[in-house]
Amino acid sequence: MPVVRFAPSPTGRIHIGNTRTALLNWCVAKRAGGRFILRFDDTDRERSRPEYAEAIAVDLAWLGVAPDLTVRQSDRIALYDAAVERLQDAGRLYACYETEEELERRRKRQMARGLPPVYDRAALKLTVAEKMAFEMAGRRPHWRFLLEHRIVAWEDGVRGPAHIDTASLSDPVLVRADGGYLYTLPSVVDDIDLAVDHVIRGEDHVTNTAVQIQIFQALGAAVPAFSHHNLLTTASGEGLSKRSGALSIGSLRDGGLEPMAVASLAMLTGTAEAVRPVATLAELAGLIDLSRISRAPARFDPADLETLNARLLHEMPHAAVAGRLAALGVGGGEAFWLAVRGNIVRLTDAASWWRVVTGPVAPVLEDRAFAQAAAALLPPEPWDEGTWAAWVEAVKAATGAKGRSLFMPLRLALTGLEHGPELKALLPLIGRDRALARLEGAA
Ligand code: GLU
Repeated sequence: MPVVRFAPSPTGRIHIGNTRTALLNWCVAKRAGGRFILRFDDTDRERSRPEYAEAIAVDLAWLGVAPDLTVRQSDRIALYDAAVERLQDAGRLYACYETEEELERRRKRQMARGLPPVYDRAALKLTVAEKMAFEMAGRRPHWRFLLEHRIVAWEDGVRGPAHIDTASLSDPVLVRADGGYLYTLPSVVDDIDLAVDHVIRGEDHVTNTAVQIQIFQALGAAVPAFSHHNLLTTASGEGLSKRSGALSIGSLRDGGLEPMAVASLAMLTGTAEAVRPVATLAELAGLIDLSRISRAPARFDPADLETLNARLLHEMPHAAVAGRLAALGVGGGEAFWLAVRGNIVRLTDAASWWRVVTGPVAPVLEDRAFAQAAAALLPPEPWDEGTWAAWVEAVKAATGAKGRSLFMPLRLALTGLEHGPELKALLPLIGRDRALARLEGAA
């Protein structure tokens, strides 16, 4: 049974692109009865904020993702310290004293000579005396992981056979001069400690994977499976960032979208499946096959969210929305919902139709005599779905009006609008008193 994790850095709200990663992990776990861990990568003390972590948990809950376990890297520093010792003992971690400016100058020189800006491992050659001199001068070391220069290969769950030549990479800094951890090592230590056996993340992490595979091996641990999915981009090919505020899950939710509209778009874009509204995460989980995710960027149009949302609502059973309709002050039970669900884009639109039922509306009466004739023919209650047809037949017989000139004046009088849900469903909800008043021109 797979153990997976979603590992956001709580430095902002998650957006629809992060959601793709979270949901892919969730689906892989849940389809196979596995575990989903939410891990906050909050070792960056300056940029991480507890409020963001809380907001991310709320956003995931809204999407229907309930973690089996939530951990914070800031609570787990002792584990990383122990791993550092092991790597130091194994000769895989070495102290470096260069300042950022020195490194930058070196990179510029390399590039000027047409060389890749890869760290030259100068610190490996430092003598004990030189290191002492740095320490005496008040410099603290940062620590780099000594890569084995070789081809690192893995079978990627999305991309198939993958490999990276680590000779083309700089030895990564794992520990900063202030003792703080960068993301690379804690992630591996946690994956080992929490028995994560499948890492599913965006393809922006492919290079990290080569490095991290070597860290797993240096720590004597089994290497998990890796799958790197394509990233969501907007139609213009632009990537998403934490600054893509409008596409944050929080703003999509506040904008009245259904979680499954967001989840369907986030998951199905850029896969072999057609993008369509899927009613539940469980159903989505059944559709998703990592090996059928495209390698090309997953381009999406944010406007599709509205279309998907409308299509979801058009199929939604009353039981699924009853509580939320009540919270919006919408009555009318199942009959009202079935009458209006085909005419709404967002659930909140149901409230406007409810106002059309309960009033006040501004009836549009182009021909008062016609309206009065129709009013006089309103049958007594109780009304049902057959009332409209019977009444319209009677109005037709009495006035000779037919087609559009029969229906439209009635609709305009009853609702004040040219378009809307079928009147055979609305009329019984409007009821005789209100219908009569509207036909007589009262609001
Ligand atoms: N915190 C990393 C990120 O948000 C996690 C990457 C990973 O899944 O290992 O990109």
